[in-house]
Amino acid sequence: MDWNSFLGHHRQRGWFANAIRTNRLASTFLLVGQDAIGKRTFARLIAKTLLCLRNDPKDFSPCGLCEACVQVEAGTHPDWLQIEREKGRTALSIDQFIGPEDNRMRAGLCYEIRMKPYSGRRKIAVIDDADTIGVEGANSLLKTLEEPPPGSVIFLISTSLQRQLPTIRSRCQVVRFQGLSVEDLAQLAIRQGIANGPEEAKRIASEAQGSLASFSVLMDDELREFKSQLLQQLEGHPFDFPRFTKAMLTNMDSVGADSQAKRERLKLLIDFVQQNYQAKLMDAVRQGNATGIETGVSLIRRCMDAKEHVDRIVAPAALVEAWSADLASLKG
Ligand SMILES: [Zn+2]
Repeated sequence: MDWNSFLGHHRQRGWFANAIRTNRLASTFLLVGQDAIGKRTFARLIAKTLLCLRNDPKDFSPCGLCEACVQVEAGTHPDWLQIEREKGRTALSIDQFIGPEDNRMRAGLCYEIRMKPYSGRRKIAVIDDADTIGVEGANSLLKTLEEPPPGSVIFLISTSLQRQLPTIRSRCQVVRFQGLSVEDLAQLAIRQGIANGPEEAKRIASEAQGSLASFSVLMDDELREFKSQLLQQLEGHPFDFPRFTKAMLTNMDSVGADSQAKRERLKLLIDFVQQNYQAKLMDAVRQGNATGIETGVSLIRRCMDAKEHVDRIVAPAALVEAWSADLASLKG
């Protein structure tokens, strides 16, 4: 992967290229944006750019072929540190930051990043799933974020600024990432062999809100079928919102026991509804229908608000109930 084949996020690239060229690269970054739009790949490309043995970082064009580039791509570069939430766990563990109990402060990301860079340049770390850092993990990380070793660069990968503790947020430079365009997403899906052809890719990309994760989900015929049922229910007169709520929750539970997966599914389902209202709002705008516009805006706001809260509440079921009851009353 090089910058030429990396899709989208041009503003963020330009921003980093400029910071590197002018020697003003900060040390700690919070890359925020929905899942599966390229944030991790972006961080890895920055690492290649900074560690490439052939091309000057200021050229912002890693060669992709030297030992350093190959090792970063493979995840084996000694100056490239990466942690992510382990399978079956709900959060990053404190051990990943400061070492296991019998080896505290002598292992883990916060320890390793203080080691002399093998390449003589710098250490670069990625903390994936940063939404799950938790208070204990955050406390162990604060000193590193406050006084990062000279030249080191730390990327925290997050899907929502709201899910970051203020202590972390305030110590990082926030870089926001938007979803991919329909064209870029379709191209990416074809490249990764997820879509069967350009037509299908474009059709599904137009519903996937710029995320490859949503795209993959929508390749699931059952879910697409559920989406159309859900939208039909939404149009019902009167709107049977208890039935609608039940359908939402049943579908959310169908993804299994992992609470994070359930939340992601719930956000996707709310998104289906929001997209539907966005299309209706566009119609109302075209027709100059003032009541339709007002209602549309309220409904969309309510959906956005619900999505924001999905990650913050303990019981998603209560949120869905309150949300669909509000939809019923807003729809009138
Ligand atoms: Zn290289």
